Amino acid sequence: MLESNPFQILDQNAPATLKPAVDPSTLNHRDLLDGDFWKKIPAYRDVDQATFLDHKWQAKNTITRPDKLLKALQDLASDAFIKDVEAGFAKAPMAVRVSPYLLSLIDWNNPGDDPLRIQFLPMGSRFLPDHPKLGLDSLGEQADAPTPGLTHRYRDKALFLAIDTCPVYCRFCTRSYAVGLNTNEVEKVSLKANSGRWDQAFAYIASRPELEDIVISGGDSFNLRADWIKEIGVRLLNMPNIRRIRFASKGLAVMPQKVLTDDQWFASLVEVHELGRKLGKEVCFHTHFNHANEITAISQKAITRLFSEGITVRNQSVLIRGVNDTVETMSTLVKRLSYINVHPYYVYIHDLVKGGEDMRTTLQTALDLEKHIRGLTAGFNTPTFVVDAPGGGGKRSAHSYEIYNRETGVSRWEAPSVKPGKSFFYFDPIDQLSEDMQARWADPGEREKMLDELRGLSR
Ligand SMILES: *Cc1c(COP(=O)(O)O)cnc(C)c1O
Ligand code: SF4
Repeated sequence: MLESNPFQILDQNAPATLKPAVDPSTLNHRDLLDGDFWKKIPAYRDVDQATFLDHKWQAKNTITRPDKLLKALQDLASDAFIKDVEAGFAKAPMAVRVSPYLLSLIDWNNPGDDPLRIQFLPMGSRFLPDHPKLGLDSLGEQADAPTPGLTHRYRDKALFLAIDTCPVYCRFCTRSYAVGLNTNEVEKVSLKANSGRWDQAFAYIASRPELEDIVISGGDSFNLRADWIKEIGVRLLNMPNIRRIRFASKGLAVMPQKVLTDDQWFASLVEVHELGRKLGKEVCFHTHFNHANEITAISQKAITRLFSEGITVRNQSVLIRGVNDTVETMSTLVKRLSYINVHPYYVYIHDLVKGGEDMRTTLQTALDLEKHIRGLTAGFNTPTFVVDAPGGGGKRSAHSYEIYNRETGVSRWEAPSVKPGKSFFYFDPIDQLSEDMQARWADPGEREKMLDELRGLSR
Protein backbone atom coordinates (compact mmCIF):
# COMPACT_ATOMS: atom_id res chain seq x y z
CA MET A 1 0.00 0.00 0.00
CA LEU A 2 2.65 2.46 1.09
CA GLU A 3 4.56 1.92 -2.13
CA SER A 4 1.57 2.72 -4.28
CA ASN A 5 0.90 5.97 -2.42
CA PRO A 6 3.91 7.60 -0.88
CA PHE A 7 1.78 10.37 0.63
CA GLN A 8 -0.45 8.04 2.61
CA ILE A 9 -0.45 8.63 6.38
CA LEU A 10 1.23 5.79 8.19
CA ASP A 11 -0.72 3.53 10.50
CA GLN A 12 -1.47 5.57 13.64
CA ASN A 13 -0.75 2.58 15.88
CA ALA A 14 2.62 1.78 14.41
CA PRO A 15 5.57 2.74 16.62
CA ALA A 16 6.76 6.22 15.77
CA THR A 17 10.29 6.41 14.42
CA LEU A 18 11.43 9.40 16.42
CA LYS A 19 14.72 11.14 15.90
CA PRO A 20 16.90 10.73 18.97
CA ALA A 21 17.04 13.75 21.28
CA VAL A 22 19.76 16.21 20.34
CA ASP A 23 22.82 16.82 22.42
CA PRO A 24 22.22 20.31 23.92
CA SER A 25 25.78 21.31 23.01
CA THR A 26 24.73 21.22 19.34
CA LEU A 27 22.50 24.22 20.09
CA ASN A 28 25.29 26.38 21.47
CA HIS A 29 25.15 28.61 18.39
CA ARG A 30 22.34 30.38 20.26
CA ASP A 31 24.51 31.25 23.27
CA LEU A 32 25.67 34.74 22.35
CA LEU A 33 28.25 36.37 24.58
CA ASP A 34 26.59 39.16 26.57
CA GLY A 35 27.34 41.30 29.61
CA ASP A 36 30.44 43.39 30.25
CA PHE A 37 32.96 40.86 28.92
CA TRP A 38 35.47 43.65 28.13
CA LYS A 39 36.16 44.27 31.80
CA LYS A 40 38.58 41.34 31.91
CA ILE A 41 41.02 43.52 29.91
CA PRO A 42 42.97 45.63 32.44
CA ALA A 43 42.73 48.82 30.35
CA TYR A 44 38.92 48.51 30.07
CA ARG A 45 38.19 47.55 33.68
CA ASP A 46 36.35 50.80 34.35
CA VAL A 47 34.70 51.20 30.95
CA ASP A 48 30.90 51.23 31.20
CA GLN A 49 28.50 49.84 28.62
CA ALA A 50 27.57 53.18 27.02
CA THR A 51 31.24 53.94 26.45
CA PHE A 52 31.99 50.49 25.07
CA LEU A 53 29.08 50.78 22.62
CA ASP A 54 30.28 54.18 21.38
CA HIS A 55 31.92 53.68 18.00
CA LYS A 56 34.03 56.80 18.47
CA TRP A 57 35.48 55.38 21.68
CA GLN A 58 36.17 52.09 19.86
CA ALA A 59 37.92 53.92 17.01
CA LYS A 60 39.90 56.19 19.32
CA ASN A 61 41.10 53.29 21.44
CA THR A 62 41.95 51.02 18.54
CA ILE A 63 45.42 49.58 18.95
CA THR A 64 47.86 50.37 16.17
CA ARG A 65 51.21 49.58 17.77
CA PRO A 66 52.47 46.46 19.54
CA ASP A 67 53.62 48.50 22.56
CA LYS A 68 50.05 49.76 22.99
CA LEU A 69 48.90 46.16 23.01
CA LEU A 70 51.10 45.55 26.02
CA LYS A 71 49.74 48.65 27.71
CA ALA A 72 46.14 47.48 27.28
CA LEU A 73 46.76 43.88 28.31
CA GLN A 74 49.29 44.44 31.10
CA ASP A 75 49.76 41.15 32.95
CA LEU A 76 47.18 39.28 30.81
CA ALA A 77 49.83 38.52 28.18
CA SER A 78 53.31 37.19 28.76
CA ASP A 79 56.43 39.08 27.68
CA ALA A 80 57.26 36.20 25.38
CA PHE A 81 53.89 36.56 23.62
CA ILE A 82 54.27 40.31 23.11
CA LYS A 83 57.80 39.80 21.74
CA ASP A 84 56.47 37.13 19.40
CA VAL A 85 53.78 39.53 18.14
CA GLU A 86 56.36 42.31 17.67
CA ALA A 87 58.43 39.90 15.57
CA GLY A 88 55.25 39.00 13.67
CA PHE A 89 54.51 42.61 12.81
CA ALA A 90 58.07 43.21 11.67
CA LYS A 91 57.60 40.43 9.10
CA ALA A 92 53.95 41.05 8.20
CA PRO A 93 52.68 42.83 5.09
CA MET A 94 49.72 44.30 7.02
CA ALA A 95 49.69 47.03 9.65
CA VAL A 96 48.18 46.35 13.07
CA ARG A 97 44.69 47.63 13.89
CA VAL A 98 42.67 45.94 16.62
CA SER A 99 39.62 47.47 18.30
CA PRO A 100 38.99 47.13 22.04
CA TYR A 101 35.98 44.98 21.11
CA LEU A 102 38.17 42.48 19.25
CA LEU A 103 40.78 42.49 21.96
CA SER A 104 38.07 41.61 24.50
CA LEU A 105 36.96 38.59 22.49
CA ILE A 106 40.38 36.91 22.46
CA ASP A 107 40.98 34.16 25.00
CA TRP A 108 44.04 35.53 26.79
CA ASN A 109 44.59 32.21 28.59
CA ASN A 110 45.60 30.74 25.26
CA PRO A 111 46.20 33.50 22.70
CA GLY A 112 48.41 31.27 20.55
CA ASP A 113 45.46 29.15 19.43
CA ASP A 114 42.72 31.76 19.65
CA PRO A 115 40.73 32.13 16.39
CA LEU A 116 40.71 35.93 16.60
CA ARG A 117 44.37 36.25 17.52
CA ILE A 118 45.23 34.13 14.47
CA GLN A 119 43.36 36.53 12.16
CA PHE A 120 44.65 39.86 13.43
CA LEU A 121 47.83 39.46 15.48
CA PRO A 122 50.70 37.70 13.72
CA MET A 123 53.19 35.71 15.81
CA GLY A 124 56.70 35.62 14.38
CA SER A 125 57.18 32.06 15.62
CA ARG A 126 54.22 30.77 13.57
CA PHE A 127 55.33 32.12 10.19
CA LEU A 128 55.84 29.69 7.30
CA PRO A 129 57.77 30.56 4.13
CA ASP A 130 55.54 31.95 1.37
CA HIS A 131 54.55 29.60 -1.44
CA PRO A 132 56.96 30.00 -4.41
CA LYS A 133 53.98 30.66 -6.72
CA LEU A 134 52.71 33.60 -4.72
CA GLY A 135 52.38 37.07 -6.26
CA LEU A 136 51.34 40.06 -4.18
CA ASP A 137 48.11 40.81 -6.07
CA SER A 138 47.42 37.10 -6.48
CA LEU A 139 43.91 37.64 -7.85
CA GLY A 140 45.16 39.94 -10.61
CA GLU A 141 42.71 42.67 -9.56
CA GLN A 142 44.94 45.40 -10.95
CA ALA A 143 45.22 43.69 -14.34
CA ASP A 144 41.40 43.69 -14.67
CA ALA A 145 41.08 47.36 -13.63
CA PRO A 146 39.93 49.74 -16.42
CA THR A 147 40.22 52.69 -13.98
CA PRO A 148 42.22 52.78 -10.74
CA GLY A 149 40.41 50.76 -8.07
CA LEU A 150 37.62 49.42 -10.30
CA THR A 151 37.90 45.74 -11.18
CA HIS A 152 35.71 44.66 -14.09
CA ARG A 153 36.37 40.94 -14.36
CA TYR A 154 32.94 39.37 -14.73
CA ARG A 155 30.51 40.42 -17.41
CA ASP A 156 27.71 42.09 -15.47
CA LYS A 157 29.31 42.98 -12.14
CA ALA A 158 32.27 45.02 -11.00
CA LEU A 159 34.17 45.65 -7.80
CA PHE A 160 34.66 49.27 -6.77
CA LEU A 161 37.42 49.84 -4.22
CA ALA A 162 36.20 53.17 -2.92
CA ILE A 163 38.67 53.59 -0.08
CA ASP A 164 41.91 52.01 1.10
CA THR A 165 41.45 51.87 4.85
CA CYS A 166 39.62 49.46 7.14
CA PRO A 167 38.48 49.44 10.77
CA VAL A 168 40.81 46.44 11.26
CA TYR A 169 43.67 44.93 9.30
CA CYS A 170 43.41 41.22 8.59
CA ARG A 171 46.40 39.02 8.13
CA PHE A 172 44.71 37.12 5.30
CA CYS A 173 43.78 40.19 3.26
CA THR A 174 44.00 39.65 -0.50
CA ARG A 175 44.24 43.37 -0.98
CA SER A 176 47.41 43.83 1.04
CA TYR A 177 48.75 45.33 -2.21
CA ALA A 178 46.60 48.40 -1.55
CA VAL A 179 44.94 48.31 1.85
CA GLY A 180 46.41 49.86 4.96
CA LEU A 181 49.60 51.73 5.69
CA ASN A 182 52.92 50.90 4.12
CA THR A 183 54.78 48.37 6.23
CA ASN A 184 58.38 47.16 6.41
CA GLU A 185 57.41 44.57 3.84
CA VAL A 186 55.15 46.29 1.34
CA GLU A 187 54.81 49.66 -0.41
CA LYS A 188 51.11 49.99 -1.22
CA VAL A 189 49.33 51.08 -4.38
CA SER A 190 47.44 54.28 -3.57
CA LEU A 191 43.62 53.94 -3.60
CA LYS A 192 42.61 56.82 -1.40
CA ALA A 193 39.01 57.97 -1.22
CA ASN A 194 39.20 60.65 -3.86
CA SER A 195 36.41 62.01 -5.93
CA GLY A 196 38.57 62.42 -9.08
CA ARG A 197 39.29 58.69 -9.02
CA TRP A 198 35.64 58.00 -8.24
CA ASP A 199 34.49 60.14 -11.18
CA GLN A 200 36.60 58.02 -13.52
CA ALA A 201 35.10 54.82 -12.08
CA PHE A 202 31.52 56.13 -12.30
CA ALA A 203 32.04 57.33 -15.88
CA TYR A 204 33.28 53.86 -16.82
CA ILE A 205 30.36 52.10 -15.06
CA ALA A 206 27.84 54.37 -16.80
CA SER A 207 29.49 53.69 -20.16
CA ARG A 208 29.15 49.88 -19.93
CA PRO A 209 25.55 48.76 -20.49
CA GLU A 210 26.36 45.18 -19.48
CA LEU A 211 27.18 46.24 -15.90
CA GLU A 212 24.21 45.72 -13.56
CA ASP A 213 25.81 44.97 -10.21
CA ILE A 214 28.43 46.93 -8.24
CA VAL A 215 30.24 45.77 -5.11
CA ILE A 216 31.40 48.75 -3.05
CA SER A 217 34.38 47.62 -1.08
CA GLY A 218 37.88 48.72 -0.24
CA GLY A 219 39.28 48.87 2.18
CA ASP A 220 35.99 48.89 3.91
CA SER A 221 32.63 50.69 3.59
CA PHE A 222 32.70 51.25 7.35
CA ASN A 223 35.36 53.87 6.72
CA LEU A 224 33.28 55.75 4.14
CA ARG A 225 31.88 58.94 5.62
CA ALA A 226 28.08 59.20 5.79
CA ASP A 227 28.01 61.71 2.90
CA TRP A 228 30.24 59.44 0.81
CA ILE A 229 27.90 56.47 1.33
CA LYS A 230 25.10 58.65 0.06
CA GLU A 231 27.08 60.04 -2.87
CA ILE A 232 28.22 56.62 -4.08
CA GLY A 233 24.82 55.01 -3.52
CA VAL A 234 22.81 57.77 -5.22
CA ARG A 235 25.13 58.06 -8.20
CA LEU A 236 25.11 54.33 -8.85
CA LEU A 237 21.38 53.81 -8.31
CA ASN A 238 20.58 56.63 -10.70
CA MET A 239 22.41 54.88 -13.54
CA PRO A 240 19.77 53.11 -15.65
CA ASN A 241 22.03 50.05 -16.20
CA ILE A 242 22.62 49.44 -12.47
CA ARG A 243 20.15 47.02 -10.82
CA ARG A 244 22.00 45.93 -7.65
CA ILE A 245 24.59 47.38 -5.35
CA ARG A 246 26.17 45.99 -2.21
CA PHE A 247 28.23 47.65 0.46
CA ALA A 248 30.94 45.28 1.67
CA SER A 249 32.35 45.65 5.14
CA LYS A 250 34.22 43.59 7.65
CA GLY A 251 33.16 46.28 10.12
CA LEU A 252 30.02 44.49 11.30
CA ALA A 253 32.25 41.70 12.58
CA VAL A 254 34.91 43.84 14.22
CA MET A 255 33.05 46.98 15.30
CA PRO A 256 29.27 46.42 15.40
CA GLN A 257 29.11 49.50 17.62
CA LYS A 258 29.23 51.64 14.48
CA VAL A 259 25.82 50.37 13.31
CA LEU A 260 24.39 51.00 16.76
CA THR A 261 25.80 54.44 17.54
CA ASP A 262 26.91 56.16 14.32
CA ASP A 263 23.41 57.37 13.54
CA GLN A 264 24.49 59.60 10.67
CA TRP A 265 26.29 56.77 8.88
CA PHE A 266 23.39 54.40 9.52
CA ALA A 267 20.86 56.97 8.26
CA SER A 268 22.82 57.34 4.99
CA LEU A 269 22.76 53.61 4.41
CA VAL A 270 19.04 53.48 5.14
CA GLU A 271 18.46 56.41 2.79
CA VAL A 272 20.32 54.68 -0.05
CA HIS A 273 18.37 51.49 0.65
CA GLU A 274 15.09 53.42 0.53
CA LEU A 275 16.07 55.03 -2.79
CA GLY A 276 16.83 51.56 -4.12
CA ARG A 277 13.41 50.36 -3.02
CA LYS A 278 11.70 53.24 -4.77
CA LEU A 279 13.63 52.53 -7.95
CA GLY A 280 13.07 48.76 -7.72
CA LYS A 281 16.80 48.09 -7.19
CA GLU A 282 18.50 45.97 -4.55
CA VAL A 283 20.80 47.55 -1.96
CA CYS A 284 22.29 45.10 0.49
CA PHE A 285 25.16 44.61 2.85
CA HIS A 286 27.92 42.01 2.74
CA THR A 287 30.04 41.27 5.74
CA HIS A 288 32.79 38.98 6.88
CA PHE A 289 32.59 36.85 10.04
CA ASN A 290 35.01 33.91 10.27
CA HIS A 291 34.34 32.41 13.68
CA ALA A 292 31.33 32.11 16.00
CA ASN A 293 33.29 33.91 18.77
CA GLU A 294 33.07 37.10 16.69
CA ILE A 295 29.28 37.03 16.97
CA THR A 296 28.07 38.46 20.29
CA ALA A 297 24.86 39.95 21.63
CA ILE A 298 26.21 43.30 20.37
CA SER A 299 26.54 41.90 16.83
CA GLN A 300 23.00 40.59 17.06
CA LYS A 301 21.68 44.04 18.04
CA ALA A 302 23.55 45.62 15.12
CA ILE A 303 22.24 43.10 12.59
CA THR A 304 18.74 43.45 14.01
CA ARG A 305 18.92 47.20 13.38
CA LEU A 306 19.73 46.51 9.71
CA PHE A 307 17.18 43.69 9.49
CA SER A 308 14.40 45.88 10.85
CA GLU A 309 15.08 48.33 8.00
CA GLY A 310 14.72 45.46 5.55
CA ILE A 311 18.42 45.43 4.63
CA THR A 312 19.64 41.97 3.68
CA VAL A 313 23.01 41.01 5.17
CA ARG A 314 25.11 38.24 3.67
CA ASN A 315 28.40 36.85 4.92
CA GLN A 316 31.61 35.90 3.15
CA SER A 317 34.11 33.92 5.23
CA VAL A 318 37.65 32.93 4.53
CA LEU A 319 38.57 29.35 5.35
CA ILE A 320 41.44 29.67 7.83
CA ARG A 321 43.56 26.97 9.39
CA GLY A 322 43.00 26.86 13.15
CA VAL A 323 40.00 29.21 12.89
CA ASN A 324 37.15 27.53 10.99
CA ASP A 325 38.65 24.46 9.32
CA THR A 326 36.82 21.84 11.37
CA VAL A 327 33.24 20.63 10.95
CA GLU A 328 32.45 21.81 14.45
CA THR A 329 33.75 25.39 14.10
CA MET A 330 32.29 25.85 10.60
CA SER A 331 28.89 24.39 11.61
CA THR A 332 28.65 26.68 14.63
CA LEU A 333 29.57 29.69 12.49
CA VAL A 334 26.97 28.86 9.83
CA LYS A 335 24.25 28.17 12.41
CA ARG A 336 25.04 31.29 14.45
CA LEU A 337 25.02 33.54 11.38
CA SER A 338 21.68 32.09 10.33
CA TYR A 339 20.37 32.57 13.87
CA ILE A 340 21.03 36.33 13.76
CA ASN A 341 19.60 36.70 10.20
CA VAL A 342 22.84 36.81 8.26
CA HIS A 343 22.96 34.55 5.20
CA PRO A 344 26.21 32.59 4.92
CA TYR A 345 27.00 33.25 1.24
CA TYR A 346 30.56 32.19 0.49
CA VAL A 347 33.46 30.44 2.15
CA TYR A 348 36.62 31.35 0.26
CA ILE A 349 39.52 28.97 0.13
CA HIS A 350 42.34 31.12 1.53
CA ASP A 351 44.10 33.04 -1.24
CA LEU A 352 47.85 32.88 -1.65
CA VAL A 353 48.82 35.99 0.30
CA LYS A 354 52.16 37.11 1.61
CA GLY A 355 52.80 36.07 5.20
CA GLY A 356 49.63 34.00 5.32
CA GLU A 357 50.90 30.51 4.58
CA ASP A 358 50.25 29.26 8.15
CA MET A 359 46.56 30.14 7.73
CA ARG A 360 45.88 28.32 4.47
CA THR A 361 44.34 24.85 4.18
CA THR A 362 44.35 22.33 1.38
CA LEU A 363 41.55 22.29 -1.18
CA GLN A 364 40.68 18.84 0.17
CA THR A 365 39.87 20.39 3.56
CA ALA A 366 37.29 22.61 1.86
CA LEU A 367 35.77 19.70 -0.05
CA ASP A 368 35.41 17.65 3.14
CA LEU A 369 33.91 20.56 5.07
CA GLU A 370 31.40 21.37 2.35
CA LYS A 371 30.16 17.80 2.41
CA HIS A 372 29.41 18.05 6.13
CA ILE A 373 27.90 21.54 6.05
CA ARG A 374 25.44 20.93 3.20
CA GLY A 375 22.21 19.64 4.72
CA LEU A 376 22.82 21.21 8.11
CA THR A 377 20.36 24.05 7.58
CA ALA A 378 18.37 25.91 4.91
CA GLY A 379 19.87 25.86 1.45
CA PHE A 380 19.87 29.66 1.33
CA ASN A 381 21.94 29.64 4.52
CA THR A 382 24.41 27.12 3.14
CA PRO A 383 27.60 28.81 1.93
CA THR A 384 29.18 27.97 -1.40
CA PHE A 385 32.83 27.00 -0.99
CA VAL A 386 34.84 28.81 -3.65
CA VAL A 387 38.38 29.20 -4.91
CA ASP A 388 39.09 32.69 -6.24
CA ALA A 389 41.28 31.43 -9.06
CA PRO A 390 44.73 33.06 -8.84
CA GLY A 391 45.44 35.12 -11.95
CA GLY A 392 41.92 36.49 -12.37
CA GLY A 393 39.73 33.45 -13.08
CA GLY A 394 37.19 34.62 -10.53
CA LYS A 395 35.30 32.57 -7.98
CA ARG A 396 34.88 28.90 -8.83
CA SER A 397 32.97 26.29 -6.80
CA ALA A 398 35.57 24.25 -4.89
CA HIS A 399 34.14 21.08 -6.40
CA SER A 400 34.56 22.25 -9.98
CA TYR A 401 38.32 21.77 -10.46
CA GLU A 402 39.46 20.14 -13.71
CA ILE A 403 42.34 18.27 -12.05
CA TYR A 404 43.41 18.04 -8.43
CA ASN A 405 46.71 16.34 -7.68
CA ARG A 406 46.55 15.77 -3.93
CA GLU A 407 50.24 14.78 -3.90
CA THR A 408 51.69 17.98 -5.36
CA GLY A 409 48.79 20.04 -4.00
CA VAL A 410 48.15 21.57 -7.42
CA SER A 411 44.65 22.04 -8.82
CA ARG A 412 43.71 23.30 -12.27
CA TRP A 413 40.62 25.40 -12.96
CA GLU A 414 38.77 26.82 -15.93
CA ALA A 415 36.44 29.81 -16.03
CA PRO A 416 34.58 29.75 -19.37
CA SER A 417 32.28 32.67 -18.49
CA VAL A 418 35.15 34.86 -17.29
CA LYS A 419 38.32 34.04 -19.23
CA PRO A 420 37.43 31.39 -21.84
CA GLY A 421 40.23 29.09 -22.92
CA LYS A 422 42.50 29.89 -19.97
CA SER A 423 43.69 27.66 -17.14
CA PHE A 424 44.18 28.77 -13.55
CA PHE A 425 46.09 27.05 -10.79
CA TYR A 426 45.69 26.87 -7.05
CA PHE A 427 48.41 25.49 -4.77
CA ASP A 428 47.86 23.75 -1.44
CA PRO A 429 50.19 24.94 1.35
CA ILE A 430 53.47 23.08 1.10
CA ASP A 431 53.75 22.19 4.79
CA GLN A 432 50.57 20.10 4.41
CA LEU A 433 52.14 17.86 1.74
CA SER A 434 54.19 14.71 2.30
CA GLU A 435 57.87 15.13 3.22
CA ASP A 436 58.94 13.87 -0.20
CA MET A 437 56.76 16.42 -1.90
CA GLN A 438 57.97 19.21 0.39
CA ALA A 439 61.53 18.32 -0.63
CA ARG A 440 60.52 18.48 -4.31
CA TRP A 441 59.04 21.96 -3.88
CA ALA A 442 62.18 23.07 -2.02
CA ASP A 443 64.49 21.96 -4.86
CA PRO A 444 64.54 24.67 -7.57
CA GLY A 445 65.19 22.14 -10.35
CA GLU A 446 62.36 19.85 -9.25
CA ARG A 447 60.08 22.83 -8.81
CA GLU A 448 60.71 23.95 -12.39
CA LYS A 449 59.95 20.43 -13.58
CA MET A 450 56.62 20.44 -11.73
CA LEU A 451 55.76 23.82 -13.17
CA ASP A 452 56.68 22.59 -16.66
CA GLU A 453 54.29 19.67 -16.18
CA LEU A 454 51.68 22.27 -15.29
CA ARG A 455 52.37 24.36 -18.37
CA GLY A 456 51.82 21.21 -20.38
CA LEU A 457 48.42 20.88 -18.75
CA SER A 458 47.36 24.42 -19.50
CA ARG A 459 46.48 25.07 -23.06
C1 LIG B 1 33.68 38.69 -5.85
C2 LIG B 1 33.71 39.65 -6.92
C3 LIG B 1 32.52 40.16 -7.45
C4 LIG B 1 31.15 39.72 -6.95
O1 LIG B 1 30.94 38.36 -7.18
P1 LIG B 1 29.70 37.56 -6.59
O2 LIG B 1 29.99 36.15 -6.92
O3 LIG B 1 28.48 38.07 -7.26
O4 LIG B 1 29.66 37.83 -5.13
C5 LIG B 1 32.63 41.06 -8.49
N1 LIG B 1 33.83 41.43 -8.98
C6 LIG B 1 35.00 40.95 -8.47
C7 LIG B 1 36.28 41.36 -9.08
C8 LIG B 1 34.97 40.06 -7.41
O5 LIG B 1 36.12 39.59 -6.91
S1 SF4 C 1 38.72 44.35 6.32
FE1 SF4 C 1 38.77 43.35 4.27
S2 SF4 C 1 39.95 44.73 2.95
FE2 SF4 C 1 40.32 45.34 5.11
S3 SF4 C 1 42.18 44.23 5.74
FE3 SF4 C 1 40.44 42.95 6.32
S4 SF4 C 1 40.11 41.55 4.57
FE4 SF4 C 1 41.40 43.28 3.84
